Amino acid sequence: DGRRFLVTGGAGYVGSHLVLTLVERGAEVVVMDDLRQGHRGAVPPGVELVQDSIADRRRLAEVFAAWKFDAVFHFAALSLVGESMRDPLRYCSENLSNSLAVADAAVKAGCLRFVLSSTAALFGNPKVVPIPEEAELAPTNAYGDSKLMVEKALGWADQVHGLRSACLRYFNAAGADPQGRIGEDHEPETHLVPLAIGAALGTRPPLTVFGTDYPTPDGTCIRDYVHVLDLADAHIRVLDRLEQASVRYNIGNGTGYSVKQVIEAVERISGRPVPHGFGPRRAGDPAMLVASSARLRQETGWAPRFAALDDIVRTAWDWHSRHPKGYDDRG
Ligand code: UDP
Repeated sequence: DGRRFLVTGGAGYVGSHLVLTLVERGAEVVVMDDLRQGHRGAVPPGVELVQDSIADRRRLAEVFAAWKFDAVFHFAALSLVGESMRDPLRYCSENLSNSLAVADAAVKAGCLRFVLSSTAALFGNPKVVPIPEEAELAPTNAYGDSKLMVEKALGWADQVHGLRSACLRYFNAAGADPQGRIGEDHEPETHLVPLAIGAALGTRPPLTVFGTDYPTPDGTCIRDYVHVLDLADAHIRVLDRLEQASVRYNIGNGTGYSVKQVIEAVERISGRPVPHGFGPRRAGDPAMLVASSARLRQETGWAPRFAALDDIVRTAWDWHSRHPKGYDDRG
C-alpha cells in the first residue's frame, strides 16, 4: 500500500480491527491511544504505539510532525449512550474538544484527509427506516449530539481549510477477527453481544433486557449489527472518495434484529442458554435503528462480508470463549 496513517483510539475495539486490516494490506500505521480504554495486546507487532492522550495538543503536534500521514482515522472518544445521559456535559465537551484538537493538528500539519467514527445515534428516532444517509439529524442522547457537533465543525474545516472528512455513522459494531487475534473487551462492558455471550459463558451475570414495551414486534429494541471487519473495510474504501469531496455514510447491514433475536442467536451459536431477565428502558435508547447504506454501497462498492447475524455472533463467540477474561488472559 505504501501509505502511512494515524489511528487515534487504535487500541480500542473498532480501531484495532481497522489497524489490523491496514497492516495486512501493507500500510504503515501509527496508533495514538492512552490505553484508558484500549489494550496494548490489541495493537499488532510492528505498529508504533504512542501512549498519550489526544487531549494533549503539544503531543499531537509532535506526532503529526514526526510522521507525514496520508490520512488520520479518529476513533478515540467516549462512546456509551447510557453514560452520556448521566454525564452529558463531559461527553459533549470531551468528544468535541478532543476531536477538534486532532483535526486542528491535522490541518496545521497539512494532513487534509480525516475519517471520523460517527454514529447512528445522530438520527434519534428516525422517521424513515431503513435510515437513508440524508435523513434528518435529531439525536436523543448526548453521545449522539457530541458526534453531531464534531461533524458540523468538520464541515467548517473543509470549507475554510480544505480538510476533507468522511463521517461514518456506525450502526452496532459487533463480532471479532475471525482468526481470533483480537476481539471486543470493554471495561465496563455495556454492549449487548458481549454481555449476552458472557451470560452464556457464566463469566458475566444474567443479562437484563432493557425495555419490553417498545413499538416493535416483540417489544424489545431493534438494532442493525455490522461486523467490525466490514466497518474496517468501509474506512479504507472511503479514502478514494475523499479525493473528490467530503462524504457522510451510514454503515450497517440494512437488517434489524431485536434484543430477543440477538439472545436467540447467541443461544444457537453457543449451544447454551443465555440467562436473562427483563428491566426498564435505558435512557436515550431509540426503538429502532436500521441503516440504509445505499450511498456507501453505490459510491464505494462496499458490501458486508458478514451480513448474517449468526456469522457475526460466531466470530464474537469464538473470541470470548477463548478469552473469557478478554486481553488479560492472552499471555
Ligand atoms: N441492551 C439490553 N441489555 C443490555 C445492553 C444492551 O437490552 O445489557 C439493548 C439496548 O437497549 C439496545 C441494544 O441492546 O437496544 C444494543 O445496545 P448496545 O449498548 O449494545 O448498543 P447501542 O445501540 O447503545 O449502540
